[in-house]
Amino acid sequence: MGRGFNGVMVKAWGGQDYRLTVRSSEGVTENYVRLEFDANGLLADHPQHPTQYVRVWIPEDGTEKLHHRAFTLIDQDPENDRLFIEFALHHGPAANWARNAVPGDQLDVTVLEYDAKKRLPEQVEGEYLIFGDTASLPAINALLESIGDTPARIWLEWQHESDQTLPVRNKPHHEVTWLQRVDDGRLMREQAQEITCAADAFAWVACCGQTTRSIVKTFKTTHGLPKTSLKYQAYWK
Ligand SMILES: Cc1cc2nc3c(=O)[nH]c(=O)nc-3n(C[C@H](O)[C@H](O)[C@H](O)COP(=O)(O)OP(=O)(O)OC[C@H]3O[C@@H](n4cnc5c(N)ncnc54)[C@H](O)[C@@H]3O)c2cc1C
Repeated sequence: MGRGFNGVMVKAWGGQDYRLTVRSSEGVTENYVRLEFDANGLLADHPQHPTQYVRVWIPEDGTEKLHHRAFTLIDQDPENDRLFIEFALHHGPAANWARNAVPGDQLDVTVLEYDAKKRLPEQVEGEYLIFGDTASLPAINALLESIGDTPARIWLEWQHESDQTLPVRNKPHHEVTWLQRVDDGRLMREQAQEITCAADAFAWVACCGQTTRSIVKTFKTTHGLPKTSLKYQAYWK
C-alpha cells in the first residue's frame, strides 16, 4: 500500500514501524470510541511519556492509498504489551476506520523519536493553562495525570452535547470549563483573551489549526508569555 511523500519523509526521519492489533472497542459516547490494542513490541522499544503519539496509516477504501494521521497513546501498559487510542468521531478516514474497528483488525503505525522531543517540561513552577478539544483530550488526560499537584485550568471545546460527559482526569484543584464550538472556535479565542495569566504560567494548546494559532498569538502578545512557556500543536484542520 502507498504511503506516498509522507511515508518517504517519515522513513527518512528514522521512523520505526509497528502493526497494532485491536483487542476491544468501547463506545464512550456516540461520537467517541476507545480502542484497546496489542502493542506488538512498540512499548518495549519506546518508553511512554505523557502526550506520546504515533503516526497512523489509514487505508482508503478501494484504493492503494494510505492516509497519514497522528493519534495519542494512552494508558500504555508495557508489562502486558497493551495500549489504548481514543478517537473523536467525525467523517474522515481515520474516524471511520475507528468507528468500524473490531477485534483482530490491524493498524499500521510509525513512531518517530523526533515526536518524542515535543515532551512536557520536567517542572512547571506556576499554573498550567490548557486549551484543547475532544481530539486532544487523550493527551490532556495523560498530561493531567502526570503533573501531580501543579495547578491547572483547562478549557475544552465541545461540538456534540455528549462531549461534555467525556471523562476528564482532573484532580479536584484543577478547573475544567467546556465551551461550545461556535464560529470556528470564537469562544475559545475570546476566553484566551480574557483569562489571567501569571508570568510563571505554562500554556499547552492543541485545538484545530485556526484556533491554536489565534490562542498562541494571544499568549505571546496579550499575555507576554515567552516561547519557552508555551507548547502547542494544531491537532486537526
Ligand atoms: C499529535 C497529535 C495527536 C492527536 N491525537 C488524537 C487522538 O488521540 N484522538 C483524536 O481523535 N484525534 C487526535 N488527533 C487529531 C487527528 O489526527 C485529526 O482529527 C485527524 O484529522 C483525523 O483524521 P481523519 O482521517 O478522521 O479526518 P480528516 O480526513 O483529517 O478530516 C475529515 C474531515 O473531518 C474534519 N475533522 C478532522 N478532525 C476533526 C475533529 N477532531 N473534530 C471535528 N472535525 C474534524 C476535517 O475538518 C475534515 O472536514 C491528533 C493530532 C495530532 C497532531
